[in-house]
Amino acid sequence: MKFELPKLPYGYDALEPYIDAKTMELHHTKHHQTYVDKLNTAVEKYPELVGRPIEELLMNLANLKMEEPDRIAIRNHGGGHFNHSLFWKILDPTNQKDDLVVKEINSTFGSVEEFKKQFTDSATKLFGSGWTWLVRNNQTSKLEIKNLPMQDAPIMTGLQPIFGLDVWEHAYYLKYQNRRAEYIENWWKVLKLI
Ligand code: MN
Repeated sequence: MKFELPKLPYGYDALEPYIDAKTMELHHTKHHQTYVDKLNTAVEKYPELVGRPIEELLMNLANLKMEEPDRIAIRNHGGGHFNHSLFWKILDPTNQKDDLVVKEINSTFGSVEEFKKQFTDSATKLFGSGWTWLVRNNQTSKLEIKNLPMQDAPIMTGLQPIFGLDVWEHAYYLKYQNRRAEYIENWWKVLKLI
């Protein structure tokens, strides 16, 4: 079975005015769709891999028997598919505040405000294209803020994503142009952490 673009469980305009409908539509139907298509093109060359979950491919990427350009394609486009599938869930406006996560954020970072400050600082300083993540490190079980480049998925390096922010320009440029800090500030209003 091929990978497919997941349906958005809410409308493209559901996150207005913080994330605009046009950006959401392009992001979902063009950018994410392209990751899905290119991931399928790479995986289809290896019939034994068709039907394997994306998590399995990404976590075992180094050991898959394949040509290097295909491994890079799965890292980039498979990561893109994994990250965006999660991102649409993170942005779901029907999400309730997760009290357990908030409690752990408080105990790890001192307060939600301090955490937001550190996360925002990390996302603002991320150079080029990538994501800022709140992850759980599998080795220490602790929460950490991580910047990862391009579409590298946290699960590739033993990190369980709690939530993440797409800071590729395609995620905000239409509405915010170069004002990444303003996009990040408004993203917190969608996330409803407090
Ligand atoms: Mn994106």
